[in-house]
Amino acid sequence: MFQDYLDQLTAQHLLRRIRPIDSATGPTVMLEGREVLLMASNNYLGLATHPDVIRAAVTATQRYGTGAGASRLVCGTLPPHMELESALAQFKGTESALTFTSGYTANIGVIPALIGKDGLILADRLCHASLIDGCRLSGATFRVYRHCDMDHLQALLGRRPAAQPTLIVTDGVFSMDGDIAPLSDLVALAERYDARLFVDDAHGTGVMGQRGRGSAEHCGVEGRLPFQMGTLSKALGAEGGYVVGSQAFVSYLINSCRSFTYTTAPTPASAAATVEALRIVQEEPARRERLWTNRNRLVRGLQDLGFPLTPTVSPIIPILIGDADRALQVSQTLLADGVYAPAIRPPTVPAETSRIRMTVTADHTPAHINQALAALERAARSLALL
Ligand SMILES: *Cc1c(COP(=O)(O)O)cnc(C)c1O
Repeated sequence: MFQDYLDQLTAQHLLRRIRPIDSATGPTVMLEGREVLLMASNNYLGLATHPDVIRAAVTATQRYGTGAGASRLVCGTLPPHMELESALAQFKGTESALTFTSGYTANIGVIPALIGKDGLILADRLCHASLIDGCRLSGATFRVYRHCDMDHLQALLGRRPAAQPTLIVTDGVFSMDGDIAPLSDLVALAERYDARLFVDDAHGTGVMGQRGRGSAEHCGVEGRLPFQMGTLSKALGAEGGYVVGSQAFVSYLINSCRSFTYTTAPTPASAAATVEALRIVQEEPARRERLWTNRNRLVRGLQDLGFPLTPTVSPIIPILIGDADRALQVSQTLLADGVYAPAIRPPTVPAETSRIRMTVTADHTPAHINQALAALERAARSLALL
């Protein structure tokens, strides 16, 4: 039965396998004994390999050990966890913050803590899978609106039964498209229809906005979102998820959110690493500038070559291919040419929208970006893509 399933996926060009990488996820990695250019990691600011971040993780491990020992509520709250939460609240300009072992566990716990069976969730069709899982776990009635389509969302809001508790759910920056939710319109609709808005800023944190405070800063709606969620695992280079909001909101989650309570606290190392990463995000804007320079260089190069892109505004740069089979061929051709950029296929993206998802980081050099563009040009020619 297992094998039948795998055979079926193979026939549809949808089989996945994990590829071991034998080095840190820097701008280049060792893959199966060969150095290749990595255009796939979400380590946007290069902080996962920053010497100060690594040192903070090592120091915390020496002081507090490798594991936190228990759930936060049992005996697992250590100084790095407390420091991290105050640093996050300060960074995001909120009263309080709460951290989770991952962004995934944050979403599957926080959404059910915000809304239950009597409620209605309206979610963007391209929301991240962890949001969808959180929505399903809540037991609320679950509807999707067309991607970033505010008219559709408004129609659904207008049609709901009077006074039904409502949660609008969206990514800030969409993980597989790199575009951004119209947060200003979403905030206005949420206010007008007395709904709550839950924004997952996994890819915006550290990247979007003048000071890297995320999609809300980019869209000018900081202070109008009662709570926000994000991850520590992307631009911040460590691991974990966070939510920020009022002190009452955080205390409420500590007392009601199952994915906070019933799991061991994150490691002291990851918490301390994130504290250091947050310091660098705020004190070294040059990293963000390098990231954007690289990002703009790649986007311009791809546009000049004539590749169809999504409406991206972020360092996530998806090249639309269509067929899963074809996307896989492009990815394999690139890899043979020394460039690692994965094919993203259903069910991660809708059918017939398979793509090569490229990401850039602050640690890429202009030569790296040129190498990626040259490889794409050769792939396009050999596969008659353009
Ligand atoms: C990556 C991602 C997550 C999950 O975060 P992890 O910390 O990796 O578990 C959640 N939401 C979005 C939009 C993501 O891109």
